[in-house]
Amino acid sequence: MTDHTHADTLRTPIVAVLGHVDHGKTSLLDTIRGSAVSEGEAGAITQHIGATDIPLDTISGMAGELIDPSDFDLPGLLFIDTPGHHSFSTLRARGGALADIAVLVVDVNDGFQPQTEEAIDILRRTGTPFVVAANKADTTPGWNPQDGEPIQKSMEAQSERAKSMLDENLYEIIGQLSDAGFSADLYWRVQDFQKNIGVVPLSALTGEGVPDLLTVLMGLSQRFMKEEMAIDVTGPGEGTVLEVKDERGFGATVDTVVYDGVIRNGDTIVVGGQNEPIVTEIRALLRPRPLAEIRTEKEFEKVGEIGAAAGVKIAAPDLDQAMAGAPVRVVRDRTADQVIEEVKAELAEIEVETADN
Ligand code: GDP
Repeated sequence: MTDHTHADTLRTPIVAVLGHVDHGKTSLLDTIRGSAVSEGEAGAITQHIGATDIPLDTISGMAGELIDPSDFDLPGLLFIDTPGHHSFSTLRARGGALADIAVLVVDVNDGFQPQTEEAIDILRRTGTPFVVAANKADTTPGWNPQDGEPIQKSMEAQSERAKSMLDENLYEIIGQLSDAGFSADLYWRVQDFQKNIGVVPLSALTGEGVPDLLTVLMGLSQRFMKEEMAIDVTGPGEGTVLEVKDERGFGATVDTVVYDGVIRNGDTIVVGGQNEPIVTEIRALLRPRPLAEIRTEKEFEKVGEIGAAAGVKIAAPDLDQAMAGAPVRVVRDRTADQVIEEVKAELAEIEVETADN
């Protein structure tokens, strides 16, 4: 058995972004990445395969007075780059959702739409904590944009008329959340985030309210997920396949989000396959090269190991039958047969869930 007293470390919570088409999921992810980078220093974000890591320091820089970084010991937030609930619902981890926490994006003018309802159903079923990003606040008639500012500061700069129009739309969304069975309120009014869903008015276009969203995500993770984030960093790695891709010089590779333990080059792994689990040995662990180096060199760099939470491309023989959404497990201190059984059990669970819907 693993001794959990020694190597325990708090890993980064994994965040997914969901919502109706055109409500601004992609824009929001782009803005979070962009404003993090313009925070300045090198290391403001780390681009992973299929995910972006925003460290606490960067979040704290963006959130200014909203955050006191000494309140937190979680290292930051890992955003899955592919938004949408189709990817969310196929991305499982030990039967639950791969994402620890979610952002449900709702256009303030449009309110709930069919895919918002679908996303809510999935969040409810998987028991995933979430916050609502009430996006496109800047489209309120007469809006006076306050780029990148916390939303309450921005509200102070608005006319009474603009403020009350936005409020009206926000209360509409709060009502729709209530109809869906979730008690919700504007996030600064929420006392207990376990009972109430926080709604964060924001604009992916101007960045106002984005500091608030990051603050709420950090706060939620810190308060309610700290225990789940405690992992044995030296334990056998566990992850979920985001995508199977052919890469020149490597053949079929699996882009994987690692949510527990560590994966090392040369490890034997078991990967869920279309017919049966694939047992193979890792030839290379690949990460994106920093942007500055990409033009002159290859797209990826090889790393010796990668610990949770992270996105990595795994190159190994026989991965062509691997499946998106399937488990990846390092064998290490167990027998391959034991791990194969685990992977089969997990795949069976995913199939039952999919058949139910
Ligand atoms: P997705 O389908 O949910 O990923 O939505 P996109 O991010 O592609 O956004 C859909 C459209 O809405 C695009 O034209 C965006 O430029 C626009 N958009 C997204 N967020 C905002 C916002 O906060 N304000 C305004 N004015 N437009 C936005």
